[in-house]
Amino acid sequence: MHHPDTAPQPQIDPRHAGRDAPSSGSVRFNGNVNGHMNDTDTMTDAHANATINRPTQDSLSANVDMDEVGKFTQLAHEWWDKRGAFATLHEINPLRLNWIEANVNRYTGSGLTGKKVLDVGCGGGILTESMARRGAAATGIDLGVENLQAAHLHAEQNHLTAQVQYRHIAIEQLAKQQPESFDVVTCMEMLEHVPDPSQIVTACFDLLKPGGVCVLSTINRNPKSYLFAIIGAEYVLGLLDRGTHDYAKFITPAELDSMAIAAGFNRQDLIGLHYNPITKRYWLAQNVDVNYMMAVVKPQ
Ligand code: SAH
Repeated sequence: MHHPDTAPQPQIDPRHAGRDAPSSGSVRFNGNVNGHMNDTDTMTDAHANATINRPTQDSLSANVDMDEVGKFTQLAHEWWDKRGAFATLHEINPLRLNWIEANVNRYTGSGLTGKKVLDVGCGGGILTESMARRGAAATGIDLGVENLQAAHLHAEQNHLTAQVQYRHIAIEQLAKQQPESFDVVTCMEMLEHVPDPSQIVTACFDLLKPGGVCVLSTINRNPKSYLFAIIGAEYVLGLLDRGTHDYAKFITPAELDSMAIAAGFNRQDLIGLHYNPITKRYWLAQNVDVNYMMAVVKPQ
């Protein structure tokens, strides 16, 4: 299929070139215990400002790669810098927000207003906060403490703490604590960074009320996505650190569809997310060769 772009499209990974990602090892344990955050904590002012214990791999769900999380937490101070490391996520956000809300509307009969929404792997809360601004009661979860601190601080500065909250908890654990409690679950740009994405998709299913909508996004796996998302973005355009993405962890729409169906979801909407770094133009189109989003629904 002919692709409309004239320039290679980077994957929608927020990290920039020229920044040092940790080459090995988990996020290091910080011995200061001024404030303790365990994996069921909600972000509070005290937590946001405290020096905290870093989670160790053992203390979390086995289904997390702390090296991957560390790549994001070390840039956490840039989450809300629209020209910083996460600029691409800021640029695509209105587009994905509209697509999410269109699907919520389509399958539930109304938009985000009044919906209880969970954003999994929320990072600094770019999407979470935007859903709250559309009237949702939004919860963001992530396993990177610094990401949650940045997210909470931004919500606080914008007087949004009544509409959005952030929690440091593994999705699998939240699914056990409060199954069937959300109208909408989103998990964007995260599945290609976890050891077992199918387990995340199943937890998304468990967390949704019957009739709830789940929107997922990730990167396809094929020669073209290798060319655009790795060679183009990391080597030719230099937009991302070399080694940012592991090609083997990319997920085809068919694979994601299988995971969703195995979890119990039905019906799907699929759309490609395209970004041209030269023109800074971004758009949605049917072509799902590189970045894409999928909407699935939990049966009533
Ligand atoms: N979803 C956000 C951020 C994407 S970056 C957005 O699209 O704007 C990927 C995020 O996933 C990072 O914040 C990282 O810390 C988080 N992450 C990676 N593995 C995770 C896991 N197993 N559980 C929760 N969050 C995870």
